[in-house]
Amino acid sequence: MISLRAGMVSDTGRVRAINQDSLLVLEHLAVVADGMGGHRGGEVASQVAIDSMAEAWMGSSADDLVENVQTANQRVIERADAEPELQGMGTTLVAVGLVGDGDGPQTVAVANVGDSRAYLLVDDGLEQLTVDHSLVEGLVRSGRITRDEALVHPQRSIVTRALGIDTSVDVDLLERPALVGERFLLCSDGLSNEVPEPLMASVLKRFAEPAEAAAELARLANERGGRDNVTCIVADLVGEADDLEARASAMVPDAAGFEGAGPDTIEYSLTDGPLVEIPDDEDDPPRPRRFGRALSTAQPSTDEYRPPRLTWRSLAFGGALLVVALVAIGGTGWYARSGWFVGVDGDQVALFQGRPGGVLWIDPTVERMSPILYNDLTPDEQQRVDGEQEFSTREEAEEFLAGLGDTHDRSDP
Ligand code: MG
Repeated sequence: MISLRAGMVSDTGRVRAINQDSLLVLEHLAVVADGMGGHRGGEVASQVAIDSMAEAWMGSSADDLVENVQTANQRVIERADAEPELQGMGTTLVAVGLVGDGDGPQTVAVANVGDSRAYLLVDDGLEQLTVDHSLVEGLVRSGRITRDEALVHPQRSIVTRALGIDTSVDVDLLERPALVGERFLLCSDGLSNEVPEPLMASVLKRFAEPAEAAAELARLANERGGRDNVTCIVADLVGEADDLEARASAMVPDAAGFEGAGPDTIEYSLTDGPLVEIPDDEDDPPRPRRFGRALSTAQPSTDEYRPPRLTWRSLAFGGALLVVALVAIGGTGWYARSGWFVGVDGDQVALFQGRPGGVLWIDPTVERMSPILYNDLTPDEQQRVDGEQEFSTREEAEEFLAGLGDTHDRSDP
């Protein structure tokens, strides 16, 4: 029976303070989610989505996979409704599932919302299986910018579809026959924005072990800037479901040994679930793990640990630093979410909350789609939309949007 043999890494990167990405690997399912939203929002959104996927997964059909993603969307919305400080959080989600009826999986189903990606390794490189739901993808498709320009576009992190935004979400689905020997890559934009596809492909060809390939990809993303959280899963389709040892050896959850990872790299622990064991080549006793629930982060070795000497002076200094950091984080979060502007979502004009281009880890979100197509605007109006003038209230931004609507009176079909 076909199953996944996967290696994975989720790393904070070199710039961000926290890791808002989450991942899940089960015997027949791999998922990457890239959360967004201030406070703890991004982290919570991606983790809620991952937990929901793990809980709902039955593996019976591609339609079920889509339904699982829609359920995950509901869970994220419910959580945001329950905790007001999480309002506005969202997450991307890309899932590769092996689905099939009684005789075991025969089909690979790829479901996607947002700009995390699934790739298939082919002879001459990487075939991207998903279409990004992002502002820059819309601009590329409408011919306004090139692929190369998209890679450095200041608004490349704006997603136009995400879980947690609306009670209904469109999920892209692709199905293909499951073939033993194929290698898939799932990743957040922290990898695809830093590492060019030909380089990713060469790494995937060079390292036979999925875990080594994943670690090398994350290392490259950090080496090239590490400006965002980096998460990737390298998943091979293998034929031996009972080849436990072989699969387990591939599942090294952190990128041990790559510079800049250290305690930032999340270690995933198992509570229940699939039959995965990590070989005990260290002194650690073997323990079962489930990849997807971040219960702890790796700690520095205790061998060399000596308690620092504390004085009232160092305590006061530390306290002052903490206050400054908290004020800065709170202020940044408030600033990042306090603005409104009118921009482009795919081909359509939309109302965004947040700052154009985002602030640090906080990306703007689409609050309302307008029925107006960007291409139908006059050049003058296009220029006004391109300017992404910021407003301090939603009303002002709506007024600006209505001004465009006056000259392009049309109703939603
Ligand atoms: Mg990201």
